Amino acid sequence: MQTVSNVSQLRSKIKSWKQQGLTVAFVPTMGNLHAGHFSLVEKAKQIADKVVVSIFVNPMQFGKNEDLNTYPRTLQSDQQGLIDEGADLLFTPTVETIYPKGLAAQSYIDVPDISERHCGASRPGHFRGVATIVNKLFNLVQPDIACFGEKDFQQLAVIRTMVDDLSMPIEIIGVPTKREVSGLAMSSRNGYLSEEEKTQASHIYRILKDAAHALEYNTLTVNEISDRAKQQIAEQGLILDYFNICDANTLQDAKNNDENLVILVAVFLANVRLIDNLQLSKA
Ligand code: AMP
Repeated sequence: MQTVSNVSQLRSKIKSWKQQGLTVAFVPTMGNLHAGHFSLVEKAKQIADKVVVSIFVNPMQFGKNEDLNTYPRTLQSDQQGLIDEGADLLFTPTVETIYPKGLAAQSYIDVPDISERHCGASRPGHFRGVATIVNKLFNLVQPDIACFGEKDFQQLAVIRTMVDDLSMPIEIIGVPTKREVSGLAMSSRNGYLSEEEKTQASHIYRILKDAAHALEYNTLTVNEISDRAKQQIAEQGLILDYFNICDANTLQDAKNNDENLVILVAVFLANVRLIDNLQLSKA
């Protein structure tokens, strides 16, 4: 696997593959790779001839008081993991390469509506940063296919909407969330937690499953299920950001007779923001 940091090296490699008629799948990441990221690479390998991974901690998607400066950067072990997974090319641009004029002068992409609630409401500007970097990386890599984790359910919905709205010729594939044995969704931010806190965090998935079960069997209304889950979150010492039961396509509030539902949750634990979700079909 070759690692390239500059745009001309990236473009010439991709061009040579395209000239040979090979298809390219792309997995954008912020690094500190874990089994969740590697499951995206594995999926990408199954569906395309060549797999490009990027590692870029994107300053545009971090809020002022968020963890941009402390975000874990582990390039060497990430490279080894990607070699073991069989990725073909790693793109590791610098901030100056991506935003040469600085963030304030940078053109951006806003994806209205779907970006506005849930994480969008808690992290103003976050999805503008995500859509802008993904759009920019798509233009650099020019993939046929791109893989994103369902772990970031709203992010996946924002990307799908952007690709659709702007007629980008890229197929977007969603990949199921990888979890620890405890049920905790894998995340680079789990590294901020102690073992005890990880156990505490594993209640998030249990609470999601509990709510999903109640929804599937119509034992309580959507509002009753939300209220109970919020209480369970508080009982576990987790600080609620949001717990929303939504239509899985629009991410608007679910009505009691909706068929295709997703439960989206975000909590704080020891100042670490953790998100998870569970999609379900009503019986
Ligand atoms: P990140 O490095 O956090 O920006 O994530 C890069 C990609 O990996 C995104 O598409 C995420 O949704 C995906 N991802 C992160 N964690 C997981 C996980 N536990 N399971 C599956 N995909 C994940």
